This record gives sequence, structure tokens and C-alpha cells, in this order.
Amino acid sequence: MAATLRRRRSELADARAARIGDGSIVHELTTRVWVGVEIPAVVCAAADDPMRLRPSTSPVTCLRCRSRRSGSGGEQVPGQALLWG
Ligand SMILES: [Zn+2]
Repeated sequence: MAATLRRRRSELADARAARIGDGSIVHELTTRVWVGVEIPAVVCAAADDPMRLRPSTSPVTCLRCRSRRSGSGGEQVPGQALLWG
């Protein structure tokens, strides 16, 4: 599993944004550490499965990713952190 995640991360390393599966919303990519392994994730934590992320060269359209990046206040959406537990 860890090796798969590392390969996934390298596939996404050059991308700044990603879609989730076949979704139309483009999210901003970031990196999280999950059980000691760096894995790709989206800023707004909308994707609970990094394997579903697809690299995208389109501008970020996710409002939550954009508002977080602009530093409007570190708000947490209740429950979303639990997706990584
Ligand atoms: Zn997003």
C-alpha cells in the first residue's frame, strides 16, 4: 500500500491541481503525511482516497481550496478530519 501511494504521489508531483475521479471540480493539491507516508491530497480534504485523484492542469475551481489558500481563517469543516483517521 505504501509503495502504491508513493508511486501515486510521484504521478501527481508535477501537478498543482487535481480532479477527484470524474468530477468536474478542480482542487488544489497538497501533501499530507499519513501513517508516516507522504501522500497527495487536496487542500479542502474533499477526497478521502488519494487513489481517486487525477492530475489536472486546469485552474483551481474549488471554492473551499481557494478560500483556504487565501488564508481566510483556518476554519475546519466538522467531520472531515475523521476521513484521515
Ligand atoms: Zn477542494
